[in-house]
Amino acid sequence: MPQKSLSIAVIGAGIGGLATAALLLRQGFAVTVYEQAPAFARVGSGIQMAPNAVKVLRALGVEAQLRETAFRSPLAVSRVWDTGAVTSELKLGDEVEARFGAPYFFLHRADLHATIASVVPRDVLRLGCRLTELEQEAKGVTLAFADGSRVHADAVIAADGVHSTVREIVLGPERAHFTGKVAYRATFPAALLGGAKITPVRTKWWGPDRHMVVYYVTAARDEIYFVTSQPEQAEWMTPESWSAKGDLAELRASFTGFHPEVQSLLQACPEVHKWALFERDPLPNWGEGRVVLLGDACHPMTPYMAQGAASALEDAMVLSRCMQGIDTGGVAAAFKRYEATRKPRTSRIQLQSSANTWLRGETDPAWVYGYDACIASLAD
Ligand SMILES: Cc1cc2nc3c(=O)[nH]c(=O)nc-3n(C[C@H](O)[C@H](O)[C@H](O)COP(=O)(O)OP(=O)(O)OC[C@H]3O[C@@H](n4cnc5c(N)ncnc54)[C@H](O)[C@@H]3O)c2cc1C
Repeated sequence: MPQKSLSIAVIGAGIGGLATAALLLRQGFAVTVYEQAPAFARVGSGIQMAPNAVKVLRALGVEAQLRETAFRSPLAVSRVWDTGAVTSELKLGDEVEARFGAPYFFLHRADLHATIASVVPRDVLRLGCRLTELEQEAKGVTLAFADGSRVHADAVIAADGVHSTVREIVLGPERAHFTGKVAYRATFPAALLGGAKITPVRTKWWGPDRHMVVYYVTAARDEIYFVTSQPEQAEWMTPESWSAKGDLAELRASFTGFHPEVQSLLQACPEVHKWALFERDPLPNWGEGRVVLLGDACHPMTPYMAQGAASALEDAMVLSRCMQGIDTGGVAAAFKRYEATRKPRTSRIQLQSSANTWLRGETDPAWVYGYDACIASLAD
């Protein structure tokens, strides 16, 4: 059993931070989660949870709930942008579950977040707490927040996302490269499609220099989502913001000539958000001493494989396994073991995602979907 006194500060109550908190609380650690947002907002976005992610969600105890609410597409289909010709078809229904030991879910990002939040006691969450400074001493870490408050913790897990403040403090400023692409995304009631027929499976429409991914985000198929990736000439000024709006007319014009199903979606869509896509060089290390990074904070990736949040969930599981039974003297070694276990896999996923070829043609997804963070071997 860990010492009662081992206190852990998790920075960021996103998907990675909440999952980490839930898993560490079960081991008896004194966990507090600090989140800059004053409340959780329902941002319009879908999210795919592949079997490797669902295995962690199962360990969190939320699989049954998600089976009720999430869309389970029978197939993942790739189609040519104009003719609609099918270039690959992966079975995602019972077949994927039988092969990889867990289902494949499609759902609203906010529903996933709320489901994970439901297993984290409210009293460990500190909302409206933006971390601004952090200082390591021999016996712990002092954290300072924008409101002037300060706390001490034995260990810090930074799940503070792609713009991680902790990463900057501990590892210095990092360079982000604009990929030249932006993503437009929207969720809206399927009823807005009127009579237009949309093939009810997860579909990726592959154009010469742009694409669109489409799927339902509810089991009832009453809400639909699409996300694009497309070139943008100048470096767009509002990078990586979930709330920045996009121009529908511009979006519609940029998909001229695409298949009628794509046109129907774009016509029905009431509003879009826009997100600039950046890439980063792999980090030399994921932390120092009693501070470690997790999720997008240490391995941000393009969304082309739908594996960013899945990787954050895998991180949470592996980190919690590395921390099992440790006391304050074991923190740094546990963090190093977690990094050594996770880095080869997340680097490979980052690289594959960047290429944007995943499932375009016939692909064996076993190395991604077959992974089980709950039992995978840990580095020595
Ligand atoms: C368009 C798009 C589509 C995607 N689709 C998928 C998909 O289908 N499947 C998938 O697995 N992944 C997908 N991803 C990736 C996924 O969204 C991310 O990888 C995932 O959200 C990372 O989780 P996280 O917990 O590391 O960070 P986040 O979810 O970003 O959470 C970070 C949290 O930290 C908080 N925070 C930040 N700074 C501070 C601070 N200083 N103090 C306190 N709190 C702070 C933030 O407010 C936030 O709540 C997609 C990404 C994009 C852009």
